[in-house]
Amino acid sequence: MLKKVVIANRGEIALRILRACKELGIKTVAVHSTADRDLMHVRLADESVCIGPAPSPASYLNIPAIISAAEVTDAVGIHPGYGFLAENADFAEQVEKSGFVFIGPTPDIIRMMGDKVSAIKAMKKAGVPTVPGSDGPITEDNDHTLAVAKRIGYPVIIKAAAGGGGRGMRVVHSEAALLNAVYVTQSEAKAAFGDDTVYIEKFLENPRHVEIQVLADGQGNAIHLGDRDCSLQRRHQKVLEEAPAPGIPDEIRNQVAKSCVDACIAINYRGAGTFEFLYENGQFFFIEMNTRIQVEHPVSEMVTGVDLIKQQLLVAGGEKLSITQDDIKIKGHAFECRINAEDPKTFMPCPGLIKHYHPPGGLGVRVDSHLYSGYTVPPHYDSMIAKIITWGDSREIALSRMRNALDELVVDGIRTNTELHRDLVRDSAFREGGVSIHYLEKKLKL
Ligand code: ADP
Repeated sequence: MLKKVVIANRGEIALRILRACKELGIKTVAVHSTADRDLMHVRLADESVCIGPAPSPASYLNIPAIISAAEVTDAVGIHPGYGFLAENADFAEQVEKSGFVFIGPTPDIIRMMGDKVSAIKAMKKAGVPTVPGSDGPITEDNDHTLAVAKRIGYPVIIKAAAGGGGRGMRVVHSEAALLNAVYVTQSEAKAAFGDDTVYIEKFLENPRHVEIQVLADGQGNAIHLGDRDCSLQRRHQKVLEEAPAPGIPDEIRNQVAKSCVDACIAINYRGAGTFEFLYENGQFFFIEMNTRIQVEHPVSEMVTGVDLIKQQLLVAGGEKLSITQDDIKIKGHAFECRINAEDPKTFMPCPGLIKHYHPPGGLGVRVDSHLYSGYTVPPHYDSMIAKIITWGDSREIALSRMRNALDELVVDGIRTNTELHRDLVRDSAFREGGVSIHYLEKKLKL
C-alpha cells in the first residue's frame, strides 16, 4: 500500500482523490498554485506545498516543482487526476525515474495511446473494432492518399496522430478537396503538436459517443465496468453523461466490452482507462483510449458500486485486482451534469466570488465539488465547479432525481450553466435516450 500520495491536480478531482486516500489510510500532500491556497482539498490534506504562480505552465504543469514537492514531503506516489499532466508520458517517466510511483499506466503505454495511429494499430491487432481508414499515416504518395479515401468513401475525416481536445481534425466531402485538406491539417498539426503525422478515417455522420471503462493491474488481470454515453457535447466537450448507454443490445455491448478487456491484457495495461467509441447503426468504432481517470467516472461507480480511484491507488501500490468480471453487476442507471462557471448564453467563463452555495441532496444524489460559500472561482483554470450525479433503479427514476437535484442547487454570485441542464433533463428526445453527438449543438442553435 502507498503510504503517502501527492495529488497533482486541483478542484473537484483533487478532493475526490483526497477522499479515496483517506479511506485507504494514505497520507495526502496537496500541491497548489498561489491562486489556489483556499481550495477545499488544500485545507483537508495532511500537508500542502505551493508549487508556483497561478498560470498552469508555472504550477500544475511544472514537472520539477511537482517532483520536488514529492521529495520534500517524503511521498511515495503521485496521482495526476485528469487534464494537466495526466496523459503526459514524459511526466510519468520522470516520476518513475525519480523513484516515485506514477498512479496510472506505464510511460510507454501512455506514449503509445497518445499517438492515435499507434493506438489504433494496437487496438486493431487486439480485436477492438476500429473506424475504416488509412491504417497508418498518410505519406507523400498522393495517388495512394486519393485511393485510400476512395476506398473508404466520402465523407472522410483527416486527423492528426498527436491531436487532442477536439483539435487537429478536418472533414472532407469530395475528392477535389482532399489533398489540400491533408496539407492544411498537416501544417496545423505541426504548429499545434509539433508532429505533422495525419491519417484518414471514414467520417461517421450521426454517431453517438459511447465509452467503456476498464480497470487492470498490469499483472494479467483486467475487467470492464460497463459503458457510458457521453453524446451530449458542445465543441467536443462533454456536458452531461449517463451509464449505461441507453438502447444498446446487450449482445453488442458485451462483445465490445470484452474486446476492450482482451486489449488490456494484450498490452499489459495497468490502472483505470477508457476506450472511446463512436456508435452508429448498431456498430462500435474505436476512436481513442484515455489512459487516466475521467471526469465522468462517477456514473460508472454509481451503477457498479466500485470506487475507481481507490482501485487506481491499490493497483499502483502493487496489489492484484481483487474484483473479477463476475463481481461486476450493472445495477440501475446514473446521470452526471457538469456545472460550469460560465454564462448560460455565451458560454464565456464566469469566475468570481460565490456568495452562497447550496448543494442538492437526497436518496441517490451525489455531488462531487470543491465549492463552499465564500469561495472565489479563479479565472486561470477550467470552468467546471461541480458534478451533480444521480442514481436510480431505472433511467426514469435517476432522471427525475436529477431534475429535483438541479432545481435544489443554488450557486449565488456567479453565472453557471445550471439552466441549460434544467432544460436538457426535460428535453423529450434526451428523455427518450440515444441522441447523437450533434444533438446539443443543433438544439443550442434553435
Ligand atoms: P480528441 O482526442 O481530440 O478528443 P477524438 O479522436 O476523440 O479526438 O475525436 C473527437 C471527436 O471528433 C469525437 O468525439 C467525434 O465527435 C469527432 N470525430 C472523431 N473521429 C470521427 C469520425 N471518424 N467520424 C465522425 N466524427 C468523428
